Amino acid sequence: RSALVWLRRDLRCHDHAALHEALRRFERVHCAFVFDTDILDALPTRCDRRVEFIHASVLELHGALRDLAACHGVAGGGLLVRHGPALASVVALARSLGVQEVLASRDYEPAARARDRRVADSLQAHGIAFSLHKDQALLECDEVLTRQGQPYSVFTPYKRAWLQRLGAAQLQALPVDSLAHRLAPLPAGEPALPALADLGFAPTNLAALPLPTGMHGARRMLDDFAGRLGAYHEARDYPARRGVSYLSVHLRFGTLSIREAAALAHARVQQGDEGAATWLSELCWRDFYFMILWHHPRVVAQSFRPDYDGVQWDEAPDLWQAWCEARTGYPLVDAALRQLHQSGYMHNRLRMVVASFLTKDLGLDWRLGERHFARHLNDYDLAANNGGWQWAASTGCDAQPWFRIFNPVTQSRKFDPEGRFIRRYLPELARVPDAHIHFPAAMPAAALQACGVRLGMDYPHPVIDHARARERTLMRFHFLKARQ
Ligand code: FAD
Repeated sequence: RSALVWLRRDLRCHDHAALHEALRRFERVHCAFVFDTDILDALPTRCDRRVEFIHASVLELHGALRDLAACHGVAGGGLLVRHGPALASVVALARSLGVQEVLASRDYEPAARARDRRVADSLQAHGIAFSLHKDQALLECDEVLTRQGQPYSVFTPYKRAWLQRLGAAQLQALPVDSLAHRLAPLPAGEPALPALADLGFAPTNLAALPLPTGMHGARRMLDDFAGRLGAYHEARDYPARRGVSYLSVHLRFGTLSIREAAALAHARVQQGDEGAATWLSELCWRDFYFMILWHHPRVVAQSFRPDYDGVQWDEAPDLWQAWCEARTGYPLVDAALRQLHQSGYMHNRLRMVVASFLTKDLGLDWRLGERHFARHLNDYDLAANNGGWQWAASTGCDAQPWFRIFNPVTQSRKFDPEGRFIRRYLPELARVPDAHIHFPAAMPAAALQACGVRLGMDYPHPVIDHARARERTLMRFHFLKARQ
């Protein structure tokens, strides 16, 4: 009896739920990855860091599976790689290999769920079973419910219940190595793996970024972060410091096991490590938003709180353009957006600041920003991104209250006090003194010019006045409340 493990956002061959299960139950196990043209063709550019990251990680995984099989006496192992529509590719592979079951990790996104239903139906028509396994989350779907058996919509009680349930069963690695003698060799005539160009994509600046790919990259970054974990709670809000893990892209594509990451933090929490406790809480947010998306798939296009769908957002193409092009005249916002465009990463504090700026200073619909992040973030994840944007826009579950509006200058003074982060991404402001770097427009023009900055030429005028924008936003939400 044989099975096919279809890898998607779980690009590793250790501590792997579907692979572990397949190896446990079947004598011969094949592994496959599909470069899904339904997804790739819809991307707006042929130069995408995510595609390159996945491609590099898939190459590594192929080699790792081949070596793992060889270590257990199976010659010619590796990963079957296809480039085509997922459904047709998986069904064709399963049939040609003659497997009895296809196994994969559960995905919580509505489009992925619909695809998986179609795959299941199609496989079933050929007498092949399809099963999904928890691998992305620690606790998923209905595993953490209120006493009334309902999904939570407030984070704090969810986290309390989540922490109570989190134990060995969720944290234990699901081993692959001990059963690897069941890995199947690749079929004869299996084509070589496609190059990035064969997929129709060009290289990006990924190789120049401090973002090593694949399982080895994840291991290096986790080891590095393990040494900094204890200081996470103090350092995590300062974008100029190396306070966070930068592991999101590895968690996104499963080159790092969430169980391994959480087990590291959990063990340190038992020893009273405050940094580890705060980081574990962030991993809990990740599960929380997966759970929200699972139970409320309408949030993809609508507010979590339906009454907030009545918010009248402005239409201001000039302001939208300025935000997209990092020309708002608010240095922390512009530096954050440049970080995103240059690296595909943005620090969490800055995601909150730029999202708040878009929705509450510029008065623009959160869905615009959500799409922009979806296009540029290496770690783009529908559940977390949607949750983050709806939090900032006050339309989400357990969101920032609508009357709490970040002041982008105060945020800048607080979280980048010496302007180190700003100067890294806005070299044109390098010589502006610390006291003014957060809002150069307030500096006398002559003094600013002495620092090499002509407002409106070297750096933009502020596109809005924060105090006035704040009043407008309060009115916008007051108006909504009054109508209800
Ligand atoms: P760390 O601080 O080291 O956190 C560790 C891990 O916990 C992260 O890698 C991530 O997997 C998880 N995590 C942390 N914070 C959150 C959170 N608020 N919600 C869900 N998971 C979290 N995260 C994404 O992974 N993909 C996104 O598309 C995304 N979009 C966001 C959009 C907005 C507007 C906001 C406010 C937040 C968004 N986040 C998103 C959450 C968070 O900003 C990133 O996970 C974090 O910045 C990634 O960096 P890190 O790995 O160094 O995080």
